[in-house]
Amino acid sequence: MSAEVIVAGAGIVGAAIAEALASAGVRVTIIERAQVGGGATAAGMGHVVVMDDSEAQFALTKYSRDLWQSYVAEMPPQVEHDPAGTLWVAADEEELQACRQKQRYYAERQVESELLDAGQLQRAEPNLVSGLAGGLRVPGDSVIYAPCAAKWLLDRAISQGAKFITGTVVAFEEGGVRLTNKRLACDLSVCAFGTAAAEYFPNLAMRPRKGHLVITDRYPGFVRHQLVELGYLKSAHGDSNESVAFNAQPRRTGQVLLGSSREFSQTTGEINDDLLRRMIERALRYMPALANLNILRTWTGFRAATPDKLPLIGLTRPGIYLATGHEGLGITTSLGTARLLADQILRRQPAIPVAPYLPGRFRERVA
Ligand SMILES: Cc1cc2nc3c(=O)[nH]c(=O)nc-3n(C[C@H](O)[C@H](O)[C@H](O)COP(=O)(O)OP(=O)(O)OC[C@H]3O[C@@H](n4cnc5c(N)ncnc54)[C@H](O)[C@@H]3O)c2cc1C
Repeated sequence: MSAEVIVAGAGIVGAAIAEALASAGVRVTIIERAQVGGGATAAGMGHVVVMDDSEAQFALTKYSRDLWQSYVAEMPPQVEHDPAGTLWVAADEEELQACRQKQRYYAERQVESELLDAGQLQRAEPNLVSGLAGGLRVPGDSVIYAPCAAKWLLDRAISQGAKFITGTVVAFEEGGVRLTNKRLACDLSVCAFGTAAAEYFPNLAMRPRKGHLVITDRYPGFVRHQLVELGYLKSAHGDSNESVAFNAQPRRTGQVLLGSSREFSQTTGEINDDLLRRMIERALRYMPALANLNILRTWTGFRAATPDKLPLIGLTRPGIYLATGHEGLGITTSLGTARLLADQILRRQPAIPVAPYLPGRFRERVA
């Protein structure tokens, strides 16, 4: 295909799309107004995880996780890939039952997982509080350092012929995009602005969902897996205005990254002290020894949340595509998103059905 495609936004989603298109021989220009991977991509946790809130969420996360695995051998050290796996922590018998269901669901769909009883959980993660019921280990999940992964994907795109320019896109038009000081012509454009997409497509079915994260000093081995309480699923998939859940990640640096909170109706990045305190208290219930660690930094970021928790990937107006709305899974699903978008542009058969992610499903709400 000789068409010129402009990808606007060089977060992990835009960078992955540029890479997928350039590797398929498409002439691509990618435009970023700030730092590559400096938006939600830099704010997030970098957990690459299979999730099962819906069949469509499972399909996209599994497809994407497999794509990440296929890239591992080529990743430079700065991507900090860690095959730590996820450990879903069950506090009581009811949650352990949910782990069993999750295991069955995964087994039926060829995702490896292992049920742990209370003793196995304690041996797997000695710093967890005793008395928890067990857990489910998903060894194929991993952790990456997302801003460097975005930069790496962009470099791959550039090495395959993509052009990168710094600039601010002010409008998407049929046949081109308008920057502050000029218009760039193209056959097709892709808006990969994350939460900022709503400023350019006003009635988009998407709203920002704020999150807090905390990072500690270096304590190698303190946490061994990405630890997530089962209740995280309620926090992530529910629609409550505010929620917190225990989520702890080992970083390659030896640091512990702690999450997570979810908040609607917030547009500024300041720390919500009360919510942060609840988030840390929640973590201490699962891991009291965290109280001995030194916190280095706390920050917030915004997830782009859609009503059905699935991203928007596809045509929204003639010649203009969207790739946004990834909520708390955009690091994971960036690679799958990129392939599904390239498949639509190149009219290739996608590996998984694209219908659940098409922006047209919210047609009545899209401008
Ligand atoms: C607290 C938190 C924890 C998270 N944890 C995880 C996790 O563990 N795993 C996971 O998979 N996902 C996670 N996520 C979600 C993930 O971070 C996002 O879904 C993902 O980073 C979205 O990437 P993006 O490229 O769409 O957006 P962004 O990274 O925000 O990139 C958009 C880019 O577009 C640029 N841009 C915007 N407007 C313009 C303009 N007018 N002109 C030019 N450029 C423009 C911005 O500067 C930015 O670089 C988390 C998110 C948060 C907030």
